[in-house]
Amino acid sequence: MIVLMQPGTNGVHVAEVERQVATDGYEAHVWHGSRTIVAVVGHSSRPLLPETYANLPGVEKVTPVKVPYTLASRQFHAEDTQIKLNGAAMGGEKVLVIAGPCSVEGREAIIEAAHAVKEAGATALRGGAFKPRSSPYSFQGHGELGLQWLAEAREQTGLPIVTEVMDPNLVGLVCQYADVLQIGARNMQNFTLLNAVGEARKPVLLKRGMSSTVEDLLMAAEYILAKGNHEVMLCERGIRTFETSTRNTFDANAIPVLKHLSHLPVVADPSHAVGKSEYVEAIARAAVAAGADGLIVEVHPDPANAMSDGRQSLDPAAFARMVESVRRIAQAVGRSA
Ligand code: PEP
Ligand code: MN
Repeated sequence: MIVLMQPGTNGVHVAEVERQVATDGYEAHVWHGSRTIVAVVGHSSRPLLPETYANLPGVEKVTPVKVPYTLASRQFHAEDTQIKLNGAAMGGEKVLVIAGPCSVEGREAIIEAAHAVKEAGATALRGGAFKPRSSPYSFQGHGELGLQWLAEAREQTGLPIVTEVMDPNLVGLVCQYADVLQIGARNMQNFTLLNAVGEARKPVLLKRGMSSTVEDLLMAAEYILAKGNHEVMLCERGIRTFETSTRNTFDANAIPVLKHLSHLPVVADPSHAVGKSEYVEAIARAAVAAGADGLIVEVHPDPANAMSDGRQSLDPAAFARMVESVRRIAQAVGRSA
């Protein structure tokens, strides 16, 4: 349920709404945008009676929420959420590009990659220190050492770090190094992990599960928001279909749908979507044309010898060309990159 406060409402009236919510056994999330809105969420044995709230002082309107993701919905928060990243904002006018290798392979390798992606115009550096591999025999990442190398790459380049966390018990550790916590596709519905990053005070890049619907993704985001972390970026990274010519199928539809249903920024990952470097640029362009706020792209100085996802990784020159061509698309749709 959404409680819209009257324009210029005061804290006393909002507090009264919050008190009623507590009495009814629900949770209140207050949003101060162009208008103050109180979202009432949770579950309780007491029914939620709209008239009780409509009669409270300072309340203009009470509306039921027709979707199961109240806090992620546009009804709660009509304006686009903007998440600060390296002096810019994901969800703002500029399309931001996060780039780097699939995994952090070594100290020199990540530092070299960081300089290369910065040079080509990246806003942030990606790289996995904890890798969710399909096979237990594949490279699993360097763990905390990888995080330390990422921090060193940040120190040298100024690029903030986006890195995956797989274990709820390691959220604290990853937070010591990361600027953005990535939740991988395979963990999109790991609710214990979602709760743990919801408790963290770092932005989260939430990747869509490979067999998850748009609504599943929004519900996963809701877990994080419900814990009080309001900085969630939604990431379309391709879904499983019957098509085998590419690794996954990029769901371009998801971008305008997510932008319509939610205020959260939408990021596209063309690398995991197509799985082949020669198609990455085309899908990056399509994503930006469709309204993506950002891109996350795998870039490796020597893709042929990458320890993971080399087949889909761009080399720095191809990445620089991609950024240039994405910039032209961004301009064509009234944005910059
Ligand atoms: C990755 O970003 O390297 C990754 C493992 O992505 P996904 O979770 O989307 O497969
Ligand atoms: Mn990868």
